[in-house]
Amino acid sequence: MTSQPDRLTTNKLKWVTMVLMLSGAAIGCETVPYTDRSQLVVVPQSQASQMGEQAFQQILSDPKIKQSQSPQEQEAVQRVAERIIQAARESKFAEDAKTFNWEVIVIKDDQTKNAFALPGGKIAVYTGIFPVAKNDAGLAAILGHEVVHALARHASERMSQEVLAQAGLTAAAVGLGASGAGPGVGQAAMAALGLGTRVGVLLPYSRTHESEADSIGLILAATAGYDPQEAVRVWQRMQQGGEGAPQEFLSTHPSHETRIKRLTEAMPEALTIYRNVEHAPENQLPAVNP
Ligand SMILES: [Zn+2]
Repeated sequence: MTSQPDRLTTNKLKWVTMVLMLSGAAIGCETVPYTDRSQLVVVPQSQASQMGEQAFQQILSDPKIKQSQSPQEQEAVQRVAERIIQAARESKFAEDAKTFNWEVIVIKDDQTKNAFALPGGKIAVYTGIFPVAKNDAGLAAILGHEVVHALARHASERMSQEVLAQAGLTAAAVGLGASGAGPGVGQAAMAALGLGTRVGVLLPYSRTHESEADSIGLILAATAGYDPQEAVRVWQRMQQGGEGAPQEFLSTHPSHETRIKRLTEAMPEALTIYRNVEHAPENQLPAVNP
């Protein structure tokens, strides 16, 4: 007798959430700045940001994840991230970039060549990506790419696709995950954010999202005063990384050639920007032991 009304209430709540989200679909068509691509986003950025924050807290509290204690490593990431964030605030994403609660951490893991930015502005860089980035301009290319995933609402878009594709349970998990019974973000929500069931393991973004992150990321890096041409060398170094290559970058569909072609296409615009801004200092990144 007692459990039945509870279940009904829960089901009702799920349906209400789903209907709300689906009704939002009618007005959820947005246009991505720079690429003018139409995207269907029924999960508001504010909600995605909240989930990003919670996922980040989970990462911070994970005992397996150690933050770098090296002032050199922290300083290197901070100095580049600050300029990329400033560029984002001056970009066509300014509205979101100004409301994001930006925070950058360096995870001490010389084996993991990875970096990510979550909706809401939480950024993590693994020290293992230093040899791939090699210098500040290389790290700027990587951070520019990651920050675009967050600013262009790629996670919201993926969550929206999930919601529409598998209404029901997924809608409930995504819609209620943040406020549900569990202390953390629901598994479906984590997956939609690009974080797999293992914390810090990123699921690949779609080809479209990767393409957008590459081309707009180049513009952010150039605006921040970094030579956008270093991006091409970064992807070449990633390619050479072979098996140990970063999953966020190489497990996704675009081939090496596609990526280089895309970057080359976007390069003239980025170079024009770069030539007209004050250049950032050219530093090498600290050495690590991969
Ligand atoms: Zn990406």
